[in-house]
Amino acid sequence: MHVFAFRPLSGKQKKTNSLRPLRLCGDYKLSNYNTIPYLRIRVLSDMSGKSRNKVRSGRASCLLGAHFSIAKGLHNSIYEAQAHDCNALQIFTKNSSTWKERILSQDEIDRFDQARERTGITAIASHTSYLINLATYEKKKHVMSCNALKQELVRSSTLGIPFIVLHPGSHMGRGENEGIRRIADSINRIFSQTPSIKTRLLLETTAGQGSGLGHTFEQLASIMDKVENRDRLGICLDTAHIFAAGYDIRTPAAYRKTIDAFDAITSLKHLYFIHLNDSKKDLGTRVDRHEHIGEGFIGLKAFELFMNDRRFSDIPKIIETPKEKEGKDYDRANLNRLRELIHL
Ligand SMILES: [Zn+2]
Ligand SMILES: [Zn+2]
Repeated sequence: MHVFAFRPLSGKQKKTNSLRPLRLCGDYKLSNYNTIPYLRIRVLSDMSGKSRNKVRSGRASCLLGAHFSIAKGLHNSIYEAQAHDCNALQIFTKNSSTWKERILSQDEIDRFDQARERTGITAIASHTSYLINLATYEKKKHVMSCNALKQELVRSSTLGIPFIVLHPGSHMGRGENEGIRRIADSINRIFSQTPSIKTRLLLETTAGQGSGLGHTFEQLASIMDKVENRDRLGICLDTAHIFAAGYDIRTPAAYRKTIDAFDAITSLKHLYFIHLNDSKKDLGTRVDRHEHIGEGFIGLKAFELFMNDRRFSDIPKIIETPKEKEGKDYDRANLNRLRELIHL
């Protein structure tokens, strides 16, 4: 059983848990590296628990959702998920393409809690900023990356989000081993600086664009081996990324071979989240371009295999496909395509 659900704090726990007020900080400053400029750190009482609200389709069940926008408020992303009949979702807790941090107000935190309680949707992941690169040798960028990840951990923990998805990083010409070492060292340091955080950090499989790491299962295993506190770590598997990285999943035989390799090298017990995306690029191209489900080089069969694999029935599955097609909201169409594939 994969532990993913966040149990909302009871009223009594809310009162007794210490909320540590900290100085707020908007833009990044180098001097903030050793501080966590956030409103509050709420010590989450428990992130464990069973999935409570699975989508039912015939006899099968699964946790299915999409990446939803926070443009109309963090809490609105959860209602968006509910409106799409989802029981899982992924969000950015800030603008993903800038270093500017988001300052959470108590009102935002309360509304997010309320939305989770009203909808019962607890399978939530936050995706980190695309700017973060824990493997970089550029000192300033590395300091900024570590600080941003630390703030993401605190922000997600404050919101009671159980998972954070991170692209491991790019070695920028310094080589795979050096990059892997820097990533693991950074994670060890960040974990030691945030001992009370319960949100689990998930390393995402990547397409391997440029010098990006995480495109082989061996690289992910190597990073995990070097992290001391593995109870705070896991993996998010992205179908478009592994396919572009060279792992075929289009036929039952290819799917079995790839998932067996994943299990043998990194272990399925470390898998906590799945991104279901088709790919605009072909097998092994190492280019990361997502396509609507069933309309790319991967095709529907692979998604049918994922949706009906009992080993993944408790793992949240999220689409990160293009939001629109011909001017229409296409999340619902992609989600329905996946739902129709369930025949367990
Ligand atoms: Zn990602
Ligand atoms: Zn992804």
